[in-house]
Amino acid sequence: MPKILDGAAIAAAIKQEVAEEVLALAAHGIKSGLAAVLVGHVPASEIYVRSKVQACAELGLYSDLITPPGTVTTEEMLALVAQLNARDDIDGILIQLPLPAQVDSKALLDAVDPAKDVDGFHPVNAGRLLAGRPALAPCTPAGVIEILKRSNIPIAGQHAVVVGRSDIVGKPVAVLLLHQNATVTICHSKTRDLPAITKQADILVAAIGRPGFITPEMVTPDATLIDVGINRLTTREEFDRFFKGNAKREATFAKRGSTIVGDIDPKAFELAGAYTPVPGGVGLLTIAMLMSNTVRAAKMRRGL
Ligand code: NDP
Repeated sequence: MPKILDGAAIAAAIKQEVAEEVLALAAHGIKSGLAAVLVGHVPASEIYVRSKVQACAELGLYSDLITPPGTVTTEEMLALVAQLNARDDIDGILIQLPLPAQVDSKALLDAVDPAKDVDGFHPVNAGRLLAGRPALAPCTPAGVIEILKRSNIPIAGQHAVVVGRSDIVGKPVAVLLLHQNATVTICHSKTRDLPAITKQADILVAAIGRPGFITPEMVTPDATLIDVGINRLTTREEFDRFFKGNAKREATFAKRGSTIVGDIDPKAFELAGAYTPVPGGVGLLTIAMLMSNTVRAAKMRRGL
């Protein structure tokens, strides 16, 4: 039987550790805080940001939710970021993406003080990460490493294949795996004979954004499968492709009109040595690592 890598339990353990660190900092008179910037009304972003603010409250972190209108300009956003950079009560700045088309997202992310860049998206943090220097690492990739380590999955010497090379997931997860001494192969849409490579993986990380893209034929038995993908299925045809006859999923689909599948076909999980389920896997680590980065930023900024 494959081992299920339980994102909920691992995220809870990390949050518990963060809560203890928050208390320890408070004992020294330090109150760590996160500013969450949510522009306009994007329902998915509203849900994500609400969860992040709620996690702050649970862990005793201060949070400030700032909600500029959807008509905000790049200049107004840059002025807001400059204010947040200067505020001593703010250790982490989170700008929820995507931003409206008229806002220059890159200019904005580059304007965040790298010391407060708890998403780990600033080029300075990307460079530090690559160079193996202390850095705020992007939350989802950092969560992948936590899942592997805390589940006692060996990384050193293993062949890790990462499918996807985005700046926020694929590239940083590949760098973090390399720092853990894995032999890393990065694949993307131009990779020739992808299945031949994915089949060599001891650890396969899928960050593609295509429902069930990694099929059982692309996986070697007993591999560890890490599924970063979050894809919402809304049609009966899509649903049946992955979950026909699955009573639990049927119930969710009937209630919500949709369900979530990762970038790995759930049938491939049956072959695995271990895997992260979707939902219930990597996704839950992202917020936990954001909280962890906020406390880390609070400590680093004060030279602790
Ligand atoms: P991007 O769209 O930025 O990147 C997708 C990557 O997949 C690209 O590098 C692309 O290659 C590659 N790709 C696309 N099609 C193929 C193909 N046919 N064969 C091989 N590679 C392919 O996505 P993200 O990295 O932002 O996100 C990936 C997934 O992870 C999404 O499902 C997203 O929802 C999820 N996600 C989950 C998070 C979480 O909290 N769990 C957080 C962030 C993302 P190329 O570069 O050549 O175009």
